[in-house]
Amino acid sequence: MSNICLVEDEQKVAAFICKGLEENGYKVKEAKNAGLAKSLIQTSDFDLLILDVMLPDMNGIDLCRHIRHTDNKTPILMLSALDQVQNKVSGLKAGADDYLVKPFHFSELLARIEALLRRQNGNGAEEEHVLIFEDLKLDTWSNIAERAGSLIALTAKEFTLLELFMRHPNKVLSREFIAEQVWKIDFDTGTNFIDVYVNYLRNKVDKGFKNKVIHTAIGMGYILKSDK
Ligand code: CA
Repeated sequence: MSNICLVEDEQKVAAFICKGLEENGYKVKEAKNAGLAKSLIQTSDFDLLILDVMLPDMNGIDLCRHIRHTDNKTPILMLSALDQVQNKVSGLKAGADDYLVKPFHFSELLARIEALLRRQNGNGAEEEHVLIFEDLKLDTWSNIAERAGSLIALTAKEFTLLELFMRHPNKVLSREFIAEQVWKIDFDTGTNFIDVYVNYLRNKVDKGFKNKVIHTAIGMGYILKSDK
């Protein structure tokens, strides 16, 4: 079970995040300002820190810098209501590992947290955040998907599914593997939701393109490969 420290003064936002994380099996400790966060971080061991930029006593970016100065290497995810590139750059420069703009869907927050924890555990140490396959491009930090330079609007699950394909190109992915990786559940052969989602994704990724990249491997699963 991973321990997360959430530093956020807005009660509503904090409660929303806290509830969602606990439902997903995380242990969460809350701090309503930077001062409390500092003492909490000093006295407890966390697997991940979530810092809001707007805090009553200190800017979250400065708090992040302070934490890094104490030689603490815990993954840090910054939250900000300001959709500004500058904020993102400052946050990442201050030592944050990822950055999420409010408002966000909880599933997006969860995906970022899981990615950071994976990286931390060494399973994804070499993970690239920009994935390219043929004319498909996926930026897993900004959550932007493009094909031939045009944006593809994907839901959070479709994005995760496409990321999975792009991390395993030219390889047949079984429905069991997809269910486990994308939905964190055991695959039940009685359902067809994976086929449904792959079709959603196909419609968005391949429709209108001559070179289809998502293929069915009959009786086995699906594969990302070039038609060319
Ligand atoms: Ca705040």
